[in-house]
Amino acid sequence: MISFFDTPGQWLRGNLHLHTTVSDGELEPQQAVDGYHEQGYDFLSITDHNTVVDVDALDDRGMTLLPGIEIAPPGAELGQTIHTVGIGASQQWEKIEDEPAQETWDRLAAITQFRFVAHPSWSSLTYDDILPVEQIHGVEVFNTTCHRGVGRGLSEVQWDDVTARGKSLFGLAVDDAHCHYNDLYGGWIMLRAQEQSREAIYAALLAGNFYATQGPQIESVQIDGLTVRVECSPCVEALAVCPMPGRGSTCWRAGVGGTEVTNFEFDLKPSSDPVRISVVDAQGRRAWTSHCRLEQ
Ligand SMILES: [Zn+2]
Ligand SMILES: [Zn+2]
Repeated sequence: MISFFDTPGQWLRGNLHLHTTVSDGELEPQQAVDGYHEQGYDFLSITDHNTVVDVDALDDRGMTLLPGIEIAPPGAELGQTIHTVGIGASQQWEKIEDEPAQETWDRLAAITQFRFVAHPSWSSLTYDDILPVEQIHGVEVFNTTCHRGVGRGLSEVQWDDVTARGKSLFGLAVDDAHCHYNDLYGGWIMLRAQEQSREAIYAALLAGNFYATQGPQIESVQIDGLTVRVECSPCVEALAVCPMPGRGSTCWRAGVGGTEVTNFEFDLKPSSDPVRISVVDAQGRRAWTSHCRLEQ
C-alpha cells in the first residue's frame, strides 16, 4: 500500500525547476508565473542559477510560489558539475569559488527545505556522483528541457541504480524550462498536501507524498501482499519495476490490444522489493511513483 494516495488533503500540481531572465531563461519571473497559472498549476518554484528570486514581490495569481535555487558543485566523474535544486530558500545564495562540493551542499541544506539532483542523464552523472550527496531527498526522473532539447531528459536508469545501491530518493518530473524552445509544461509532480500553503507543501515533499508525471494521473496504488492494483486516468500499460539484479522482476500488464483502461492488477514476485510503479497512456506519456518496500 502506498499510503499517501488516500490521506486527507488535496492534490496539488507543481513544477519545482524553472529559469527566468534572472539567470539564463527567456521569461520574466512574472510572465512565468502567469503562464503556469493559466495552465492550472497550484505551486511553482523559480530556481534560477545561483540566485534566489524574491517570489514575494510577484503576483502569485493564487498559486503558492516557493523560493528556490539551482547550484552546480563541480566534481562529477565524467566531468560535469552536479546540478542540485533547493526548494524553500530562506535567504539569498552566495556562490563561493573553489569551495569543496560537500561544503556547498551543506550550505544549501542550511537555507533550503527540500533538495534534489537535477537531470542525471543530461549531466552524464554516475551513481558515484549521486550516492555521496547526503543532503538530498530526490532526483529528477524526467526533465522536459533536457528531453526536448537533446533527448536526454529521462533518468530512470540512474534513479534505479542508486536505489539498488541502497540510497532511497524520491523521483521528480520537472520542466527546467528556459524557453529557448518549447520546454514548458511537460513534466510535473502531483502532491498530496494537507492544504495549499508553503509549510504544507514542504511537509508533503519531505514525506514523499507525491508522484511524477508527464500527463497520466495515478489515483491509487495498492500493494496487497504480492498483488498490485493501480487506478489511473485512461492508460494502456502499467509497470512494476524492481531495480535489484537477478532477484527482482519487471512485471507489466498492457490493456488488450492497447485498449485504454483505468485500473490494472498484476502479481509481483516475492523478491520484487523495492518496487516502483509506472503507468503509460496512449500518447506514451508516463507517470512514476517512487520506490516503495513490500510489506514482508
Ligand atoms: Zn541544471
Ligand atoms: Zn535548471
